[in-house]
Amino acid sequence: MTKKTPTIFIGHGSPMNALADNDFTQRLTKLGGELESPKSILMVSAHWETNGVSLVTGMEKPKTIHDFYGFPKPLYQEQYPAPGSPALAKKVVSLLGDDHCQIDKSEWGLDHGTWSVLKFIFPKADIPIVQLSIDRTKGIDYHYFLAEKLESLREEGVMIMGSGNIVHNLKLLDWDTSAKPHPWALEYDQWIKEQLENKNYSKILSDYRNSESAKLSIPTLEHFLPLIYVLGASSKEDKLSFIFDEIQNASIAMRSLKLGN
Ligand code: ZN
Repeated sequence: MTKKTPTIFIGHGSPMNALADNDFTQRLTKLGGELESPKSILMVSAHWETNGVSLVTGMEKPKTIHDFYGFPKPLYQEQYPAPGSPALAKKVVSLLGDDHCQIDKSEWGLDHGTWSVLKFIFPKADIPIVQLSIDRTKGIDYHYFLAEKLESLREEGVMIMGSGNIVHNLKLLDWDTSAKPHPWALEYDQWIKEQLENKNYSKILSDYRNSESAKLSIPTLEHFLPLIYVLGASSKEDKLSFIFDEIQNASIAMRSLKLGN
């Protein structure tokens, strides 16, 4: 049997993690040592949303995008010069169909959802990456359906990654990274953890917003949807392991996970 490349979700939190030496960034560095280097990476980041169609980056050399405001200068000097993969971008379009996905030649590149975590996991920045945008006009089932179409890429050495946060409420955050988590944040993170452990993804798809804790945890969907891509690109045989599970800033779940071996 062909070995499938694992699919991985990373909770990225504040862009400041990119400059930090903390439990989270140390864990990502360690993860990089545990993983076999994939041939290429397909990344779904919370920070690239489009309207009516998904886009996939098709440039040879995607630029590093500093898509945040009011942060310290060193964060704007970060560069992640990984190559793109026009061939993988084409493959993604052929799997999803061009009414669902089109190639972006100039608009995007690698945003901080991508580089702020990959700089720790794959610090050499030598693995080709394409980013796939999230069509914000579509519902959760659609995103799961798209991801299922991408699963076969894992048999070709492509690591399908999502970068977002399972709990992400910026209005109720505490500026102290290690602030005590809100009870509803813990509750929702725990609920997701249980569904993941039971591989009960249909319950996530149907009930993801059916509780008070859910409404507070995912006031908007963009940080949650990258997880749905990772679940859709997985299969029953994939072994689940949690990479990290702290809550930062009281309202941001950093839970990160791997499906596959
Ligand atoms: Zn983010």
